[in-house]
Amino acid sequence: MKYRYLFGPVHSRRLGISLGVDMVPFKTCSFNCIYCECGKTTNLTQERKEYVPVEDLKTELRHFLSKNPKLDYVTFAGSGEPTLHAGIGEAIRFVKENFPQYKTAILTNGSLLHLQQVREAIIPCDLVKPSLDAVSEDAFYSINRPHCNLHSKTVIDGLIQFSKEYHGALWVEVFIAPGINDNKEELKLIKETLQKINPTRVQLNSLDRPGAVEWITPAEINSLKVIAEFLKPLVVEIVSRKNRKTEIHDYSDEDAQQTILSLLRRRPSTIEELSVIAGLRVDQIYDIITKLTTSGEISEETVGKKQFLRLRTTNT
Ligand code: SF4
Repeated sequence: MKYRYLFGPVHSRRLGISLGVDMVPFKTCSFNCIYCECGKTTNLTQERKEYVPVEDLKTELRHFLSKNPKLDYVTFAGSGEPTLHAGIGEAIRFVKENFPQYKTAILTNGSLLHLQQVREAIIPCDLVKPSLDAVSEDAFYSINRPHCNLHSKTVIDGLIQFSKEYHGALWVEVFIAPGINDNKEELKLIKETLQKINPTRVQLNSLDRPGAVEWITPAEINSLKVIAEFLKPLVVEIVSRKNRKTEIHDYSDEDAQQTILSLLRRRPSTIEELSVIAGLRVDQIYDIITKLTTSGEISEETVGKKQFLRLRTTNT
């Protein structure tokens, strides 16, 4: 079966082996973040609807999960905002009721948590990972470039309300964009807000792959360490891709190619990242990449000293 809405499984240090579920079309999002690794948002919206048929998604999930794959999480994420899908709650419940051996996670920009139905939909998840990059309206608009009807206060009130109702693991990700949200005033506002949310942990992140704009720069590791210190006593970690372990799997060439395409469809990656995230042998990746480059399906892009591979088309 060719999966349209599932991707991976991918390997991550925190989530272990995670199957990705992408429920909205490419770059359908309520934000247009400057750092988005999927590029510019092409459908900037806050309309909630059934973007892809939930029944089709359930069919894919049933097909994949019935084989009892070795997985730690089923993760609702991808190349847009998953809570925009009106059936997100139904999809989460489907996994919890039919495949309770797997934990569920959702990566969200948190913009719709002010809506009671969205909070109720994602509450069954074992792990919720929302973003909070800014508190002042200026920084919020500069970094997240939201839909015009979204305001920082609305988003933050929703996050705080959700944190009161939710009892699972809540990891808030803060993306540091030098020159925008790394000044004392903004960091103080972020810290005060995080203390109200009281998350299980805060993850500090910065640019490490091509974003949606060219002018954004990564934060220095020393700056991230200073910010992490400033945010204490909150539990803070600096997100690093360096510590990921590679677990190599024996994929057929066809499965390996599908896995690579499904990952590149969501974000540009280096060959080393594909190896770690997908658990593929580097030599196998080289062969497939050569084929895909020759056929024009992918292209290469240099950022700093890294060579990223990018899918030329976003169609599934
Ligand atoms: S980073 Fe997430 S929230 Fe921001 S534009 Fe990309 S998909 Fe949307």
